[in-house]
Amino acid sequence: VVGDLFGAGKMFLPQVVKSARVMKKAVAHLEPFMEAERLATGATSSSKGCIVMATVKGDVHDIGKNIVGVVLRCNGYEVVDLGVMVPTAKILDAAVEQGADLVGLSGLITPSLHVMESAAQEMQRRGLSLPLLIGGATTSRQHTAVKIARHYQQPVVHVLDASRAVNVVSNLLDDRRREGFDADNRADQERLREAFASRDAEPLLPLERARSRATPIEWRAEDIAVPTVTGRQVLDLDLAEIAKDIDWTFFFHAWELKGVYPAILDDPRHGAAARELFDNAQDLLKRILEEGALRGRAVYGLWPACAEGDDIVLFADDSRGAEVVRFPMLRQQGERPSGRPQECLADFVAPRDSGLADHVGAFAVTAGLGCDELVARFEAEHDDYRAILARALADRLAEAAAEWLHRRVRREWGYGADEQLSPEDERKERYRGIRPAFGYPACPDHRLKQDLFALLEAPALGLALTESCAMTPTASVSGLYLGHPAARYFNVGRLGRDQLVDYAARSGITPEEAEHWLAPNLGYEPEPAPTPAG
Ligand code: SAH
Repeated sequence: VVGDLFGAGKMFLPQVVKSARVMKKAVAHLEPFMEAERLATGATSSSKGCIVMATVKGDVHDIGKNIVGVVLRCNGYEVVDLGVMVPTAKILDAAVEQGADLVGLSGLITPSLHVMESAAQEMQRRGLSLPLLIGGATTSRQHTAVKIARHYQQPVVHVLDASRAVNVVSNLLDDRRREGFDADNRADQERLREAFASRDAEPLLPLERARSRATPIEWRAEDIAVPTVTGRQVLDLDLAEIAKDIDWTFFFHAWELKGVYPAILDDPRHGAAARELFDNAQDLLKRILEEGALRGRAVYGLWPACAEGDDIVLFADDSRGAEVVRFPMLRQQGERPSGRPQECLADFVAPRDSGLADHVGAFAVTAGLGCDELVARFEAEHDDYRAILARALADRLAEAAAEWLHRRVRREWGYGADEQLSPEDERKERYRGIRPAFGYPACPDHRLKQDLFALLEAPALGLALTESCAMTPTASVSGLYLGHPAARYFNVGRLGRDQLVDYAARSGITPEEAEHWLAPNLGYEPEPAPTPAG
């Protein structure tokens, strides 16, 4: 056993050194920020410390968190990354066992916001003295201030991105700077709470008034396309073909290089790092495609459908007798400027009484089958850089697959058959129809993915949902297809209690459950949820 350990150690060391070098290169473009912040704060070297981080229960891989981990490690901090879908108790137990100096929680999707609130409560209950860092796509300075910080007496800091993580951590771990940093953060959070309270005081339209101002659409047969193919279809995707549709601009966003591809490759400040990252990504993509390390599948279909009130109803067949699923939609209640309609996605589907035979589509695509295994391989080689690159590429392929599939569906639906779009127009989605995704601003309730997945029998393809309705594999995209020329994306925004109660009834859940899933959209203060004992 001792011999084995020794042997493993010999293998291990050079790999760590090598991967640290690659990681340093990967985050080279963040160095200017880190240096600037070090100078601004007057620190000569970062004080070391230990950060325990995790993606909260119910939520999945988040490239931003992985990059934060790498950046902190490159700056001399010890990072214990507990991974994804980690229960709060496990995170806090680990923080205590490791003697951590900080706890970092990450979340991608809205239900995680509640998990973070209760984590803060639990930290208070346990009497911990560790500062709490909050990050991830679904989090915000405002939510951190309004909903999380108030539960925990220690510093609670929102970390916008990796380039700022080092600054925040070094401030919190430096005895001389901690107090001032904390005071500034608390003052900032107080201002955000006041701003939130005044926003919350703006009146909302009563639901019935909002409904009377629905999108005015003149229902005409010529705007209702008749599909050539209906019902559930399953496809194995040719990822080499789909890779041609990748929008590389978003690849750079994932690495916090905010620019537009290809111009970013020649950016005076970030061009060199962008080019190196791009070259590495191309090499890995080529290898992935050659080896077939990632596999992509899609399930989609068009179903006879109508709108009934604010619900979108799908039927089993053209007789429109048997309802297969009903998606309750939400309507804007914040008064729109200058007589604009109070929108709801159901507005874009022909109402039952229009007499028109409309259709609605549904889809789920993944390019992430095999991704966990691929990432595990790189992690076993201590190549964190390629592990992150692989996830970023899988995400890109999934988004490209969503665009590719939408093009195919527009053809099968008929109205897209003679579409002539430049790649640029397509990337900007300048075609007829939309593919709203549950959890996004027009339909913010992630829970609807449960019915979507049931309709599509998506689990048969290897797709699944976590308890918070995050999709696995992470590199997956799903949603509805609406084909009417007037269909567009919007933000539902704040909701009144009247709509919450109505929505809960239409969804067959309690108002409290609806409040849980729609927490960021509530335009009122819900009754406080029961807190853990103590
Ligand atoms: N092509 C990009 C990602 C597209 S993001 C990439 O390569 O990463 C745009 C998608 O987000 C839309 O197609 C739609 O599915 C979803 N979306 C955007 N705004 C939305 C809104 N307001 N409501 C619902 N879904 C929305």
